[in-house]
Amino acid sequence: MSYCRFGNDSDVYIYTTGKYLVCDTCKIKGGKSFATLRYSRMSVHLESHVANGDRVPKNVLEELALSFVLGDDVVNISKLN
Ligand SMILES: [Zn+2]
Repeated sequence: MSYCRFGNDSDVYIYTTGKYLVCDTCKIKGGKSFATLRYSRMSVHLESHVANGDRVPKNVLEELALSFVLGDDVVNISKLN
């Protein structure tokens, strides 16, 4: 499942494998991918993109924040369906 892809409104490609959240071809990581088990860590990571001037869709930031405020911080595929 992807949260957002590279496009007109997004400089990041964020998806989940069901276990990890991945920031694919990450500019901060010099083109490598950033992966984390936690929604909170991905939120912090995306804030870094915003601070760098990268476009991150607002709904993605909200969705990630809601995931760890309302539920478990650790990614779990069973909660996605
Ligand atoms: Zn990134």
